[in-house]
Amino acid sequence: MTDLMHILSQFPRASLLGAPTPLEPLPRISDTLGIDLSVKRDDLTGLGLGGNKIRQLEYYFGAAQAQKADTILITGAVQSNYVRCAAAAAARLNMRAILQLEDRVLGKSDLYRENGNVVLDHILGAELMHYSEGEDESGADTALRERAEQERAHGFHPYVIPLGLNNPPTGALGYMRAAREILDQRQDFDAIVVASGSGLTHMGLLAGLRLCGSDIPVYGSCVRRDATTQNARLTEVARRLQDMLGCADFLTETDIHLWDGALPPGYGQPGPRAQHAMGMMARQEGLFLDPVYTAKSFAAVPGLLEEGVLKRGMRVLFVHTGGTPALFAYAPELTAIFTEDQA
Ligand SMILES: *Cc1c(COP(=O)(O)O)cnc(C)c1O
Repeated sequence: MTDLMHILSQFPRASLLGAPTPLEPLPRISDTLGIDLSVKRDDLTGLGLGGNKIRQLEYYFGAAQAQKADTILITGAVQSNYVRCAAAAAARLNMRAILQLEDRVLGKSDLYRENGNVVLDHILGAELMHYSEGEDESGADTALRERAEQERAHGFHPYVIPLGLNNPPTGALGYMRAAREILDQRQDFDAIVVASGSGLTHMGLLAGLRLCGSDIPVYGSCVRRDATTQNARLTEVARRLQDMLGCADFLTETDIHLWDGALPPGYGQPGPRAQHAMGMMARQEGLFLDPVYTAKSFAAVPGLLEEGVLKRGMRVLFVHTGGTPALFAYAPELTAIFTEDQA
């Protein structure tokens, strides 16, 4: 315990979270699936409608404050929870926020471009800029760094939160800390299931557990890339994380578990498994999953049970990473799906 907290204490952190998030049982779905299922309510991280990015941003804003930054620049998809949370954190910490939105999901309605998180970005007073390519992380980082230089020329002190893999995985520190928080709430899980996008949440949680001496397996559910591509990404994140922490190997190859059964038809598009997961969580537990991330990550629970990776009777923790504001940007699709009969 002291080990992990000692390692984390090297990194400046802006406190954005307040209290630990609740860890709650999900009794009806537990009955349905024949497991002992709980949820870590990281959709309730408080600031700016919350979500997993608040934990990651504590460390980016900590670094920004240490450098006396007054302007935060960040990239995300149009319906990014990350940039919305960054805008909320900037407001709280008296900084400007410049949000670069990428066209990552094609063929979307005006609602997708204007509702959900985008409304919140405007209310938070952030400046929005656009980047027309959705799969060019280093290009997006370069565009943002150029913009940061313009800000500097105007006398501001910019801090860029980067997207690309070739950066220190600072956001993972927030989930290393979350691992400690989870273990303080309950330690006897047989498996943890979480979304795997940039991989910072997944890898941070895994690293935090191992550094706390816990060997609970963590199953990442792919929301952006197939399992093979994501595995390579996580291996690189792990390498950079170990470098950043200055710790010896605390992870093994076999620690990375990925499932991509709910990824199709692709990022930001909920297929049948994601739809089923959303319906089950809402209709049996009264909780909302979002169409981009948590519907797909929760779908891994029944998916891994079907495949026999998870077994009946197991104690399973699902990490709800937030994202619910995006529901309103998907109104036409979701209304069509859920007004048809869902068993
Ligand atoms: C960003 C995001 C994720 C994925 O987290 P990563 O750390 O990028 O893997 C999962 N769920 C929600 C709601 C998110 O906004």
